[in-house]
Amino acid sequence: MGLFDRIKKAFSAEPEKETPVEQDQAIPETPVESDATPVESQTPAETAAAEKTETDEPASLATEDDSETVSPLDTPTAAPVNSEPEPEPEPEPEPEPEPEPEPEPEPEPEPEPVEASAVTEESDAIEEVPETEAVTGDMQAAETKKYDDGLEKSRLTFGQRLNALFANFRSVDEAFFDDVEEMLIEADVGYETAMKIADELRDEVKLRNVKKPEAVSQAIVEKLVDLYGQEGQAEDNQLHFAPQGELTVFLFVGVNGAGKTTSIGKFAHQLEKAGKKVLLAAGDTFRAGAIEQLQEWGRRDNVPVVASAAGSDPASVVYDAVKRAKEEQFDILLVDTAGRLQNNVNLMKELEKVKRIITREVPAAPQEVLLVLDATTGQNALVQAKQFKQTTDVTGIVLTKLDGSAKGGIVLAVRTELHLPVKMVGLGEQMNDLQLFDPNRFVYGLFKDIIVGDGPQKTTDTDVSQAIK
Ligand code: GDP
Repeated sequence: MGLFDRIKKAFSAEPEKETPVEQDQAIPETPVESDATPVESQTPAETAAAEKTETDEPASLATEDDSETVSPLDTPTAAPVNSEPEPEPEPEPEPEPEPEPEPEPEPEPEPEPVEASAVTEESDAIEEVPETEAVTGDMQAAETKKYDDGLEKSRLTFGQRLNALFANFRSVDEAFFDDVEEMLIEADVGYETAMKIADELRDEVKLRNVKKPEAVSQAIVEKLVDLYGQEGQAEDNQLHFAPQGELTVFLFVGVNGAGKTTSIGKFAHQLEKAGKKVLLAAGDTFRAGAIEQLQEWGRRDNVPVVASAAGSDPASVVYDAVKRAKEEQFDILLVDTAGRLQNNVNLMKELEKVKRIITREVPAAPQEVLLVLDATTGQNALVQAKQFKQTTDVTGIVLTKLDGSAKGGIVLAVRTELHLPVKMVGLGEQMNDLQLFDPNRFVYGLFKDIIVGDGPQKTTDTDVSQAIK
């Protein structure tokens, strides 16, 4: 069964049972195949809870083992770390809305309630939350809603593009396939993907003798989703952490304005809430105000920041930060870096120097080099990523500002053309709107109108404006 059908099944409102055979067929280290894990109930919330039970074993920092794929945020990611079904869903704190402004709000020293997306590390904290199916189901539904809301603009725009494609539809001929290609390229799914889908569609249409617009649009999305699923078979969307008791270092890179500092701030908040001892390094000594911006986040998050004067050598700031992190036994160090043009050789070398220093001090670090990309820049983000990838060992992507973007389709291009795993997504302005990437929820959020068969234009333009938070 392709990813399209699996997502359709998982998110369909109609109760439907899957056979346990499919569970056995789930391939342990293959994110997409994990979607085939059976679920007893087919409401989105229950489905997601079941998915989490089976595939999201390391979602809590409370894990006792030395797993290197511990995920600090709660997302029912489809990427299983092992195929053993877990008997109990992961307990989590109560979901509560978190009305925090950003990016430059007043410091908020008081501890905040932890949203559904944050997983508490300490086992005593976990015990505070009654582990009931209802609670888990609500939280999973909340996660799905985040993706729904964050991707609304992309979804509506895609729907409108499909509608426009079929507005002058007469027959499925060569001109139509050209239009399909064009529409997909505009939807930012990537050139190669667009060509491939159009080609496959040609065959499919002949084979199945598909003529009706609805059936053709369904086939387009089905192909997109299935291709995405196939390409993601070996993709590792998990964040990798050092074993318990050892320092983890994440390096954030990307061009100016992509959202590095903001993502670090949000991530630090969630890690801190999960009980981690977090240190930040203000390695962006170049951009005016970048140090202060990170320090402000540090105050909000109640997390210390190692900083030096503007214009100082970022490598020395990072060295100081690593030293302090080791001496004071921090769990995780998040390093901000100056925005740089990916084709600026000197700046890229500087980045390598920073990375070398980290590795010299902590041989297994940095565990992640996260390239932060602004989704609103669409294909530009892809070009940036390709060039960064050539010069830096990027381990994953943080895709920000999806909430303000109609270009969510870029996730497909990132996977099929860049072959870099998206690890986190920015779905809104709130602290917990930075989420671990959940490929299935993402795809559902992007195409749900087609996947669940309600047609591409279920929502109105008012919703588009509401989606821009
Ligand atoms: P940097 O130069 O890469 O450090 O970028 P910043 O962290 O300063 O972010 C640039 C702008 O993007 C700020 O105004 C952030 O509030 C905004 N931003 C970052 N991530 C997101 C997101 O996921 N959603 C939205 N709506 N805005 C974001």
